[in-house]
Amino acid sequence: MKITVLAGDGIGPEITAEAEKVLGAVAKRFDHPLELDHQLIGGAAIDATGSAFPDATLASCKGADAVLLGAVGGPKWDGGAVRPEAGLLALRKALGLYANLRPVRGWAGLEDASPLRPERMRDVDLLFVRELTGGIYFGEPRVEGDERALDTMVYTEPEVRRIVRKACELAKLRRSHVTSIDKANVLASMRLWRKVATAEAKNHEGITLEHQLVDSAAMRLVTEPAAFDVVVAPNLFGDVLSDEGAAITGTLGLLPSASLGDAGPGVFEPIHGSAPDIVGQAKANPAATILSVGMMLRYAFGLEREADVVEAAVEATLQAGLRTPDLGGTTTTTAMGDAITARIAGSD
Ligand code: NAD
Repeated sequence: MKITVLAGDGIGPEITAEAEKVLGAVAKRFDHPLELDHQLIGGAAIDATGSAFPDATLASCKGADAVLLGAVGGPKWDGGAVRPEAGLLALRKALGLYANLRPVRGWAGLEDASPLRPERMRDVDLLFVRELTGGIYFGEPRVEGDERALDTMVYTEPEVRRIVRKACELAKLRRSHVTSIDKANVLASMRLWRKVATAEAKNHEGITLEHQLVDSAAMRLVTEPAAFDVVVAPNLFGDVLSDEGAAITGTLGLLPSASLGDAGPGVFEPIHGSAPDIVGQAKANPAATILSVGMMLRYAFGLEREADVVEAAVEATLQAGLRTPDLGGTTTTTAMGDAITARIAGSD
């Protein structure tokens, strides 16, 4: 397991340090060789090199099996000529990461954190698969004007096909149900999306596909979130819906993500940012980053059992009552990481 670690800024180094302990425990227990290479990204990279994504970082990522990322950004670099977030965009582009995966689940004992009624959160276990490199965020022409401005939403058949294929493949590892999000009643690009999604899903035996308009999906996410398994969405709609999905758990510190391409390394990172308000206070919850390691084991290395062990260790640690301040407790970042790591090292 050759992994490039990009700790980044703010709480990034604190949370990736705990995730590295977990990787070490998995490697030891299951006898996998582990090689970590630490590189700079974001503000830390700007300070050291002037670039948010230095050449050495690019070279290391390209040569790795997977990339573990903390977070980038912070007030120190706001308004600067180079923005730390440019490092993230460059990383995604360099590795051809077109699929962004965000699992959302309810945790036993944390139902109260959700803004939804506890019974609605029961059995919530869904996976957003957001198209990351196309759609209106990248469409041309784009016109910036004072009187008139223009963005273009464009999707091509191959772009839709590969993201739907990815969603179907992921659904086979889960409950085999895919909900495809669009706005086919209004947008031509979304009618193409629906047509291609329908055709691609037929190539995947055992997969059931349903189409849902983005507006009704937004409502269903709060009224019936347990109804979803895999949710595949165009860039814009996936961006919005996956944040809504994060909000219904009420636990930002427990939400991991993965960004994948077709070949080459994926990037595994928590969905939260660099949390400048709690840096250096031992308050950061490392669980989202540790759960991102779980996703890495599952999706980069195909190590299902190891991934299950990591997720079970996080769950057992929460059930034992350990809570960082974001979850209403007083457990420190290190104590949380140590407790999860101990369970991985010692459990069956
Ligand atoms: P944020 O996610 O960093 O923080 C939002 C709130 O959640 C803060 O109160 C923070 O203390 C808390 N929080 C976040 N992660 C936590 C954790 N693991 N444990 C406990 N509490 C946690 O979002 P923000 O404040 O809007 O942004 C701060 C900086 O992070 C900005 O510079 C932003 O650009 C950057 N950012 C980076 C990424 C990324 O690297 N992928 C994503 C989002 C924001």
